[in-house]
Amino acid sequence: MFDDSDGASSEDDNFSTYGESPIEEDEDSPTLPSKKRYQNFLMSESKGNLEVLKLEMSSLDLAVGQRYLTKKHLKRRLKLFTVRHQFDFDVEISNLTTYVVKCWVDGCTWRVRASTEGLSPQFYIRIYDSDHACSVTERSNRSRNETPDILGELYKNFLGNVGPAVRPESVGIAITKQFGVKMEYWKSHRTLKCAREIDEGTPECGFELLPSYLYMIRRANPNTVTRLQIDELGRFMYVFLAFGASVNGFHFMRKVVVVDGTFLNGKYKGTLLTALAQDGNFQIFPIAFAVVDTENDDSWNWFFTQLKVLIPDQEGLAIISDRHNSIGKAITNVYPLAARGICTYHLYKNILGRYKGKDVFRLVKKAARCFKMSDFDMIFEEIEALNPDLHGYLERADVRLWTRVYFPGERYNLMTTNIAESMNRALSHARGLNIVRILESIRVMMTRWFAERRVDARSQSKNLTAEYKQKQQINY
Ligand SMILES: [Zn+2]
Repeated sequence: MFDDSDGASSEDDNFSTYGESPIEEDEDSPTLPSKKRYQNFLMSESKGNLEVLKLEMSSLDLAVGQRYLTKKHLKRRLKLFTVRHQFDFDVEISNLTTYVVKCWVDGCTWRVRASTEGLSPQFYIRIYDSDHACSVTERSNRSRNETPDILGELYKNFLGNVGPAVRPESVGIAITKQFGVKMEYWKSHRTLKCAREIDEGTPECGFELLPSYLYMIRRANPNTVTRLQIDELGRFMYVFLAFGASVNGFHFMRKVVVVDGTFLNGKYKGTLLTALAQDGNFQIFPIAFAVVDTENDDSWNWFFTQLKVLIPDQEGLAIISDRHNSIGKAITNVYPLAARGICTYHLYKNILGRYKGKDVFRLVKKAARCFKMSDFDMIFEEIEALNPDLHGYLERADVRLWTRVYFPGERYNLMTTNIAESMNRALSHARGLNIVRILESIRVMMTRWFAERRVDARSQSKNLTAEYKQKQQINY
């Protein structure tokens, strides 16, 4: 799935400005099996075994003696309760020490009285008259509490999941079925959004949980390397995480590290930095992750300094990246012995923006991938004859950085940072979450990958990986 031979035959050909535009696959195309699209509704139906659901929702019930941390907590519970039972309440008394509500229908007997004890802000339910004198039809005529916020909490806690595949329509259907609330699209949409926010926790609580999360990760995964950088006021700056499985496994990988940065879209934005390798089966082998404010000299320098704890600076180590200046500076600084290569995909993109000509572009790609110096020199002369400006540009871009043949180390098939792009795509759903949830998504994904690979590796009869065996068969 994440196979990336050298990108030359896959992503490189996907330039919209070059060659035929690739056939676009619409992820929302109606050809998707319906099972997937309504997965969440099916789930809510199975969960919607009425008896079980009733039992679960009884956790919302009110009772004399119940304690609420503040009046706000009590009010929220009352809202959840009345939406569940499809009626509404009026407030009779509301002050610092007392809170009294009654059913909104005149003359009805349903009533809750709560008050504080001593100086504590906690509220206790003192009187609860749970029987209505009004009729079901009457009391359900008013429902001011059916807001996306309240419905979102009910949905999330009792009806269904809120994963990225869940669609607003199915949330609306489930809520209408369970609570008799009419849901149009936008209300369903906002309800799902609220449900997800409740599920994810706030961005702030992500930062609060970070130190204990890292501690737990280190405890559960021996050899894990974590580093939390705070500023002089104790505020978050950077976090670095390399799981024990990566630290242990990297010894067996070819010494080519692809680094990249990608934007996060949560409330505090930030950038996710990654260091990846490729395993013997041409699959992504994640090494380390960091969340920083932005890509600059300081953050990249910090990232490589942490990375050096698990990957020492040495000759023969290759680090591939895009052409970001800060990466170049940081590598010179922290990894003076390693060889730096730039991603040819990024180089081609720059060329396409500046120079015309399909033929000459093909030659550049060929030149980058040459195995023999004599081949390269011949092609490079051809480029010079066709387009002297482009030739000059490529020389200034430094042939040691973008060609296989002049690269001062060994970059094998890794001419691009495509594996980083694949990684970013695999994590795209996590990029809006709070910081702990981002790291947790990475952990869950890596656990799945490594578990699948272990099973796969054990099923191989020879020492060669499945992908490599295939390549060998093609070549002989
Ligand atoms: Zn009533």
